[in-house]
Amino acid sequence: MKLERTKSEEIYSEALEHIVGGVNSPSRAYKAVGGGAPTVMERAEGAYFWDVDGNRYIDYLAAYGPIITGHAHPHITEAIKHAAETGVLYGTPTRHEVKFAKMLKDAIHSLDKVRFTNSGTESVMSTIRVARAYTGRTKVLKFAGCYHGHSDLVLVAAGSGPATLGTPDSAGVPKSIAEEVITIPFNDSDAYREAMDRWGDELACILVEPIVGNFGIVEPNEGFLPLVHELAKKHGALTIYDEVITAFRFHYGGAQDLLGLTPDLTALGKIIGGGLPIGAYGGRKEIMDEVAPLGPAYQAGTMAGNPASMLSGIACLEVLREPGVYEELDRLGEILEKGLLSSAEKHGMDITINRLKGALTVFFTKEKIENYKQAENSDGEQFARFFRLMLERGVNLAPSKYEAWFLTTAHTEEDIRKTIEAADASFAEMAR
Ligand code: PLP
Repeated sequence: MKLERTKSEEIYSEALEHIVGGVNSPSRAYKAVGGGAPTVMERAEGAYFWDVDGNRYIDYLAAYGPIITGHAHPHITEAIKHAAETGVLYGTPTRHEVKFAKMLKDAIHSLDKVRFTNSGTESVMSTIRVARAYTGRTKVLKFAGCYHGHSDLVLVAAGSGPATLGTPDSAGVPKSIAEEVITIPFNDSDAYREAMDRWGDELACILVEPIVGNFGIVEPNEGFLPLVHELAKKHGALTIYDEVITAFRFHYGGAQDLLGLTPDLTALGKIIGGGLPIGAYGGRKEIMDEVAPLGPAYQAGTMAGNPASMLSGIACLEVLREPGVYEELDRLGEILEKGLLSSAEKHGMDITINRLKGALTVFFTKEKIENYKQAENSDGEQFARFFRLMLERGVNLAPSKYEAWFLTTAHTEEDIRKTIEAADASFAEMAR
C-alpha cells in the first residue's frame, strides 16, 4: 500500500520557492519525521481531512489544539458566516467582545478582567509585561521544554544543571534578554526551591503550563503546583498560567479550575477562537489595571477583539458547554489509549501513553514521562516511522514526538476503532 502523494509533492516544491521552508510555521514541516513533503490539505470536515490528492485522513492534529469541535462545525460556521456578512473588522468596541469576556470570566475563576489579542504568543508576552509593570522586577522563571510562543523572552531552553540562567534557543534573541530567564525542569520541586532561594526576590513571575502540552501531555505531580504558588507568593513574584492549550481542553474552564489553584494572570488562545486567530489574557483586577488605557503597561492590537473571532469563539464555547461533551471526549480517549497500549504490547513495542481526557501523547519508551528530559529521551526514530505508517493508513498525527493527539467532539467510536486498527498494523510492521 502506497498513498498517492503527487500533488502534495508538487505543491510543496512550489511552496519552497515562495514561502520560507515551504511552511508558515516550522512545526508543519516534516523535518522531525524524516523530511519530505508535508501533506497538503484541501478540505476538512468533522474529524476528517482530505488532501490535494484526494486521500482522506482521521485527524488528531486538530490544528495543534484549537479544533476541539471538529472541522467546520455547523454552529461555528454559522457564526463566521454572520460575521462575514456584517463586517469582520471595525476597530471600535462591539457588544460581542463584552459577551465573550463575560463567558470567559464565568468559566475561568481567576479572571476579573480580560484583554483580547490575536495569538497565544501575544497573550503570554503581554502577561509578562504586565507582571513586570506590576512588580517592578524583570526576571522570569519558566520550565524546560514548555513552549510559550515565539516572543524573545520565552524562546529560552534549559541549560545544564538544576537551575541555570537561560541561553537563547533561537538566533536573533539577544543574550541580554535570555539572561532574564531562569529555566528549570518541570515537576522538580528541589530545583524550584533552589531557584527561588537564589532568584526569588528578583522574579517578576513564574510562567507555567499547569498541565504541559508542549513536550507531550504531562500532568503536574501531586504538590508541585501548590509549591510553585507558595514560594512565588513568599517572594512577591506573580504566577502566570499559560492556558493556551489547556483552557477548555479538559473541561469547560481552565486547568486552574480543575486543579483548584488561582494564578495571578492567565494567557489564553487556541480553542477560545473556535478556529479563528485569537488570544486573550486576564487576571486579578488590580494587576490588569496596569494595562493601558488605565495603566502604564502598553499593549494593543488592530485586529484584537475583531467581531469574527469573537463570534466564532462564543459559538465554540456554546458547543462546549453542552452537557456530556467532556465525558464523551474522556470515554473515547480511554478507548483509544487502551487499544493502543494493548496493540503495542501484542507486538512487543515499548510505549508509554500520557493521557488526560481527550488528549494524549504516545512516547516510544517504557519510562515514565514527567519532564522534558524524559520526553527528549523517548525514541524519535520510532515515532517518525510510526507517524509515516499511520499517515499511509489514513491517520493524521502531528509530525513530532512531543505533540499531543487531540480528540474532537466529531470523532466517533468507529474512528477510534479504525485508528487502533491502523496502529496495530503499524506496530506489526515496525516489529518485523
Ligand atoms: N502557549 C502555549 C502553551 C502554546 O502551546 C502555544 C502554541 O502552540 C503558544 C503559547 C503560542 O500560541 P500561538 O501559536 O497562537 O502564538
